[in-house]
Amino acid sequence: MTLARRVGVASPASAVRAWPVWGIGRWLVILVVSVTALDAIAIGAAARTAASVHPEQLAVFVALLACSALTVEMTRRAGENAGLTKDVFAAWELPIAILLPPFYAMVAPILRIILTQLRVVRIPVHRRVFTAAALGLSYGSASLVFRSVSRIALMHQPGDGIHTLVWILTVAACGLVQWAVNHGLVLLAIKGSDLTASVRTMLLAREQVHNDVTELCVAVLVTLGIATNPFSIAFAAPFVTLLQRSSRHAQLVNDTRLDSKTRLLNAATWEREAGAEVTRATRTSTPLAVALIDIDNFKSVNDTYGHLAGDRALRAISSTIKIFLREYDLVGRFGGEEFSLLLPQTGVQDARRVAERIRAHIAETPIEVADKAGSETISLTVSIGVAALSTTGSQLTELLATADAALYRAKHSGRNQVWVTTDTASFNSCVDSGG
Ligand code: GH3
Ligand code: MG
Ligand code: MG
Repeated sequence: MTLARRVGVASPASAVRAWPVWGIGRWLVILVVSVTALDAIAIGAAARTAASVHPEQLAVFVALLACSALTVEMTRRAGENAGLTKDVFAAWELPIAILLPPFYAMVAPILRIILTQLRVVRIPVHRRVFTAAALGLSYGSASLVFRSVSRIALMHQPGDGIHTLVWILTVAACGLVQWAVNHGLVLLAIKGSDLTASVRTMLLAREQVHNDVTELCVAVLVTLGIATNPFSIAFAAPFVTLLQRSSRHAQLVNDTRLDSKTRLLNAATWEREAGAEVTRATRTSTPLAVALIDIDNFKSVNDTYGHLAGDRALRAISSTIKIFLREYDLVGRFGGEEFSLLLPQTGVQDARRVAERIRAHIAETPIEVADKAGSETISLTVSIGVAALSTTGSQLTELLATADAALYRAKHSGRNQVWVTTDTASFNSCVDSGG
């Protein structure tokens, strides 16, 4: 018996077979392997240019790497920024791409990603490798483009007046090349794992565009500063550090508004925003409706499949509810397995129709509750109570109490139903959706 067998250690071949990368789907494996191979070939090809740098350039490279490492360290407690590029590393890596040969531009992200994996958070290695390779190729491309343009235009360094302006614009254009190559590769990977992922929401959301533009502007400024005088790095470091912190602001604000499990509004935020909508609707005499949705017999899902499966079902139902709502409707997680809707500009009949569509869709759509290991689907139903703003106006608490009473009726009439209550708070206008 080999030592590996005796102590229960997997052989190298089976250890390789156990790598998480093989579980990500063939298209993604091909993408990760090709991008990594391309980056390795590019680094190999660029290696001969590595020796052609002056000691001062090497010192700049080391200083920029140190700043990058410092920024990684800063994210240790706060964690990595979510989203595609909500970080400021371009402030250190674009100057490397512009001021040093492409080899350095491709190596710098690798060192930064290794440090992030070791010091911030461990995630499957293939994701880190892909990120490093995509970044390497993107900065390598920016570096090559700058070299080609500056060779033609004879402007390796910023000069005076118009020359500096052209130089800055060229650096910004190279920053855009880097952005496009990196995001193109990352989007291919995201689309490869989820075809329904929306490119528009990922790349063109206002917050995302604002972050990307800010990061690019800072990177161009830092590049100009270092090109003019390498000691600028010392002045750029606190500024970039501050930017790194503030880039988390929007994310933190969002986190305090949302329920972490379903990413719907949390109860406090929903109530606050719904209260403001009710006041506005009362003042302007416009219609408005509120609905409470409760999953039927949800406890049995937990009892049968476990809480994690229950959580997956909660998330699936949250996503389904959102499909039927307009951008300005408010949907929140009211409590455990209950959701609250506020539908501005919506009369009682329209609210009933929306609720009915949600009910029918959930009842007809099987929900996947098993984890990656297997496949297990269940069918769930919901009961919904709807209340509309009375013509004389009402408070949110009154509307909720009325919707809750309607929900109670839906439950006690057999579940999987929508009940509606109007002005008079009587139940005889209920619409039994059949269940
Ligand atoms: P009914 O049709 O009357 O609404 O029955 P029900 O089983 O849905 O209602 P009950 O109030 O008896 O149980 C609600 C269950 O929802 C119990 C609780 O464990 C579960 N639940 C609440 N929040 C969560 C959660 O975040 N995750 C999971 N997995 N379960 C939750
Ligand atoms: Mg409940
Ligand atoms: Mg329930």
